[in-house]
Amino acid sequence: MPIMSNSKICNATSCLTDLIFPRFCTLCFTPLSDKVAAKRDCDLCEGCIQALTVTAGFSCRRCGFFRPLEHLGCHMCEMRHYHFERNWVLGEYVNHLKRAVLAIKSSSGRPLANALGSLLSQKIDSDIDSCDAPVDVVIPVPTHWKRRLVRRGSSVDIIAQQIASTLNVRCLDRLIKVTRVACKQGTLDAASRRINVRDLFAIRQRKYAQDYCGKSVLLVDDIMTSGATLNELSLFLLRNGVRQVRCATVARGAA
Ligand SMILES: [Zn+2]
Ligand SMILES: [Zn+2]
Repeated sequence: MPIMSNSKICNATSCLTDLIFPRFCTLCFTPLSDKVAAKRDCDLCEGCIQALTVTAGFSCRRCGFFRPLEHLGCHMCEMRHYHFERNWVLGEYVNHLKRAVLAIKSSSGRPLANALGSLLSQKIDSDIDSCDAPVDVVIPVPTHWKRRLVRRGSSVDIIAQQIASTLNVRCLDRLIKVTRVACKQGTLDAASRRINVRDLFAIRQRKYAQDYCGKSVLLVDDIMTSGATLNELSLFLLRNGVRQVRCATVARGAA
């Protein structure tokens, strides 16, 4: 009786898994080969990855703002003082990525939030070079508990947990609390956004200070527009002993 090689057994097992537990693209629901999805570590088809990540402009290393290639400076960085050192972004807050960011806010969007977290973490992992200090800890931008209750959780937490898992660091998703229900930033102009988030954050448990004091933190959010929220939280963390703050956001919008 012929003996099957290990690779043939693996292929047969993979085909069987595809058949019993088929995987689908979380955005367009095209069936995915289990082997391809596992290799990418992300349940998105090639077409959707392209649609979500292809951008026409050049992303500013500091704030992630997309500008035309011919523009040398970043006017967003010239206008504002950011307390974080850089911002990794997946793409511009337009078209497919905009729809994806809106979709992950509902509880049914969790698989997509996971997939976006995977894509973003792969980008950070491939981009963080020897000049950059490694990330010590990941912190998601928190939402008020009342909003978490309405949305049944937080998509930003899911994205942050995915990034932390890829970078093999801890995700401190319960460290920071929001002290009041602020107006939605999207409804305000740039100046009002800064006032809206002033003194918005507090540390939930100071006994975990050793987890963030002197550490390099990666703040995670789904979208950055003016950067007021990320800036306020960065300043808060730096004042509380964090050594360095960098950010990762799924989409970058224009303020
Ligand atoms: Zn797809
Ligand atoms: Zn910039």
